[in-house]
Amino acid sequence: MPASVEALLARGISVLAPSSDSPRADAMLLLARALDCEREWIVAHGEARAASAPARRFETLCNLRASGMPMAYVLGFAGFYGREFLVDERVLVPRPETEHLIDEALTFLKARRSAGMPAGTNVLDVGTGSGAIACTVAAENGDAFVHATDVSARALEVARINAGRLNVAERCRFHCGRFAGPVAGRRFDLVLANLPYVPTPDIPPRPNPIAFEPREALDGGPDGLDAYREFVPEVPGLLEPDGAAVFEAGPALMPELVALVERTFRARPVEVGYDYAGHARFVMVATASR
Ligand code: SAM
Ligand code: GLN
Repeated sequence: MPASVEALLARGISVLAPSSDSPRADAMLLLARALDCEREWIVAHGEARAASAPARRFETLCNLRASGMPMAYVLGFAGFYGREFLVDERVLVPRPETEHLIDEALTFLKARRSAGMPAGTNVLDVGTGSGAIACTVAAENGDAFVHATDVSARALEVARINAGRLNVAERCRFHCGRFAGPVAGRRFDLVLANLPYVPTPDIPPRPNPIAFEPREALDGGPDGLDAYREFVPEVPGLLEPDGAAVFEAGPALMPELVALVERTFRARPVEVGYDYAGHARFVMVATASR
């Protein structure tokens, strides 16, 4: 006799319990995926019988998640700034804290428009990964043209798919290479970067979900700041006179990143931004003469 939806859910929860902080929520999402239905349907139809193919699919999904694989990889997408991004092991799963970097970027672009700056804004996203930052800025701001770079050609495959899915491919260009190397000689109104900043010794082993993410997306060297130490000095040469830059990094790295940005931009005021948890997470600097 085929298993009931309720029984499948209970089995899924017990498979996920040892490895997940939210086994019930995860099992619901995976069952909804396997049955191709909404979570509400599962709640209302516990007695219904599941066919054997979706039941097997559910078991496979639960086993992947139980191995530690991030939910976003198991499902194949992640939500970011109200949109769905395709993600898999080629890219970092976009984080909620990075949504604040988008807020900062959009605030800057809006202020530019209000100040009567000419239409058309050139944005650079360094280390684009899934394209979360590049595609979101392009989607939220029809005036923006975004160049995005990554050292990982495999990540860029995902970013290009996301730009296509979100209808921003015409205003996003993806380039493979280190930092701003592929766009050398160009100037930008806004430079955004969420470079790898996890100190090497802090990268956890499997089954921690972070260990499934690409090493080159996480590993910031012995203290986490290797990538920024190399990239930040390039930034003044990338910015237009009225430009700005926003960098994301871990709270513990903030004092050193602020000092690095202050040294690099000399007299320019440097601001710190906070994430949802209230932790210092961003450094902003503007070259504007205002
Ligand atoms: N921007 C995406 C986001 O916010 O979700 C991904 C950020 S992930 C932390 C960092 C990305 O930078 C990875 O995709 C990695 O491949 C890329 N990367 C690492 N070193 C780089 C470098 N030297 N130049 C360009 N990209 C780099
Ligand atoms: N925010 C990610 C984490 O803490 C790291 C992303 C990064 O290195 N830029 O796992």
